[in-house]
Amino acid sequence: MVAVVGAGFGGLGVAYKLAQAGVRVHVYEGNPRAGGLAEGVPLEGGSHLKAGTLKSAPIERFYHHLFTSDSVFIETLKELGIENRLRFFPSTNGFWHKGRMYDISRPTGLLKFSALSVKDRIRLGAFILRARSRKDWHALDKISAREWVVCHAGENVYRVVWEPLLRAKFGDKADSISAAWLWSKIRLRSSSRKGWGRERLGYVQGGFDFVVQSLIRDIERHNGRFFWGRNVTEILPLSKGLRLVTAGRRQTYDAIVLTVAPEIASRVVHGLTLPEQARLGTIRHQANICIVLTLKESISSVYWLSVADTSFPFVAVIEHTRMIPREWYGGKHIVYLSRYTDPKDRWYTATDKEILDEIPRELRRIFPRFSAHFIEHSMISRARFAQPITSVGYAEHIPPLETSIPGLYLASMAQIYPIDRGTNYALKQGYETAEKVRKYLAR
Ligand SMILES: Cc1cc2nc3c(=O)[nH]c(=O)nc-3n(C[C@H](O)[C@H](O)[C@H](O)COP(=O)(O)OP(=O)(O)OC[C@H]3O[C@@H](n4cnc5c(N)ncnc54)[C@H](O)[C@@H]3O)c2cc1C
Repeated sequence: MVAVVGAGFGGLGVAYKLAQAGVRVHVYEGNPRAGGLAEGVPLEGGSHLKAGTLKSAPIERFYHHLFTSDSVFIETLKELGIENRLRFFPSTNGFWHKGRMYDISRPTGLLKFSALSVKDRIRLGAFILRARSRKDWHALDKISAREWVVCHAGENVYRVVWEPLLRAKFGDKADSISAAWLWSKIRLRSSSRKGWGRERLGYVQGGFDFVVQSLIRDIERHNGRFFWGRNVTEILPLSKGLRLVTAGRRQTYDAIVLTVAPEIASRVVHGLTLPEQARLGTIRHQANICIVLTLKESISSVYWLSVADTSFPFVAVIEHTRMIPREWYGGKHIVYLSRYTDPKDRWYTATDKEILDEIPRELRRIFPRFSAHFIEHSMISRARFAQPITSVGYAEHIPPLETSIPGLYLASMAQIYPIDRGTNYALKQGYETAEKVRKYLAR
């Protein structure tokens, strides 16, 4: 019997493949609901209602979309028989710089990006093409994104385009982020674009929650069990098997897969070697605070507006219903505001009311027409472990999926690199880990 800790896409991926292979699986999730960072909740707020009773599709706490290259996710939809739910839409993108929005929906938008001189625009275009065609990232893990951009595109391009975005995502660690991470981000974004055309992004009708619920049903059909609201507090190796402890329950398993942040794993697991524990403890994450506003009116002319202004509290304003049909949400306009932060940041620790009080003033800086009366409903979510900080040399610090304790595995978001974390890669890593566990059980 195997325990999986965490019911995000990673944990569900492990449980799905193990259960299908005939292994008895128990999934422990600290939250009352599944989905982890991709959790969907009813737009109307309140506790989760059963699918079918909702007036509109559930909405993710943190904005989510898919890329055309998310092959494992797409294959999983096919296996579950729900691929007809997947839609791809042309996306529109803007870049906010010094009080002006530049439309960068098409690569040709770069030609009009007057925040840079013509020479710098050409250097930026050449740099992006160079990054897109590069195949190997290992050398880029040894230098910072800053060094890489400055070397190939110049100081101006870094200062105007990448620095504000890296700073908004990684705070004071921005200059240390590896070039490999930026390279994979550029490649990923351009993989969803055909040549000089628009980017196409995917979304599942019924939200990511529809996929989560389909995975849960499949796991349960194969005799898997879920324990909701059960925080795992301890894992101890025994002479035979591993003991898992939650409030009110102790159980022994043949193998356990943790899909939690390495920092949590280092606190929960007893018996790791000292270097291993230190390695897990050194992987740091940015937190994220995401605000979902249900509005009476649309505010943005694009789906995704990157804000290259560190005095603005959010790195992006994402008008979900500029890309996803409004009819899926009873005709409402849905806007996300996202801020990656240090967990001690004022925006992360402020109360919901304090945040909501500041939002109209902040949004008016970009959308002067915005009024507090536009807001019909709001939801604020915080995630402590939202983005691993992938500094130069990160590849060397990534823990393997197997720990030093026989039968204990760690498959977390922090082990996905240089590709930025994503539901596709959480599933992929989950499937790889399930295969390792299966082999371990059959040894
Ligand atoms: C702001 C934001 C935007 C994103 N946008 C996208 C996007 O557009 N597309 C995309 O594909 N991906 C996106 N992602 C990334 C995606 O959400 C993650 O890569 C993916 O959900 C990670 O899944 P996971 O299972 O590895 O981790 P998580 O989703 O973090 O799941 C871990 C689970 O473990 C549980 N847990 C933790 N500790 C314990 C414990 N002690 N006991 C029991 N349970 C525990 C947690 O409650 C959680 O449910 C985004 C992430 C963020 C933060």
